[in-house]
Amino acid sequence: MDLKDHIRSIPDFPKPGILFYDISTLLAHADAWQVTMGRMAKAARAHQPDVIAGIESRGFLVAAPLALKLGCGFIMVRKKGKLPGATIKHTYDLEYGSDTVEIQEGAVEPGQRVILVDDLLATGGTFAASIELLRKVGAEVCAAACLIELAFLKGRERVDVPLHSLVSYD
Ligand code: 5GP
Repeated sequence: MDLKDHIRSIPDFPKPGILFYDISTLLAHADAWQVTMGRMAKAARAHQPDVIAGIESRGFLVAAPLALKLGCGFIMVRKKGKLPGATIKHTYDLEYGSDTVEIQEGAVEPGQRVILVDDLLATGGTFAASIELLRKVGAEVCAAACLIELAFLKGRERVDVPLHSLVSYD
């Protein structure tokens, strides 16, 4: 099955000039979604993870079922101020300004093998920052995985762990 048949590209979202790859149609199609998660699980299992970390917010949609399939725990990497209790933060530079990602204290034990999951890789900034955050707490980030890779942006070059993508656009 070609998963591209189930991904819509929507021009001028969220801003004029941006072509947005929409996974809603993939999620809504029972067979395509089963195939997607089967392929993700096959790629991820080889790394023998203890924990699957999902990046807010569409990354959660992929990471949570992946964790269930692999028999792993699931943890959330969220934007600043969304997680209750004590958190560990990592602030990173954007083209204009900065952003902060957080996990809850104790969400990962030092030495645990973590696979980081998002829906899409663009410039790689989100993956790179989330990897740094997980390393701050001593996690071993053994791989990263996403459904879609925008290969022309070369985000892969900023991700220093094995990276799996199911669909790539040149
Ligand atoms: P990056 O940090 O790699 O430049 O951007 C990746 C992040 O932006 C991901 O968390 C992803 O959800 C979001 N993103 C950027 N462009 C798109 C897009 O076209 N479609 C979707 N679904 N997410 C996008």
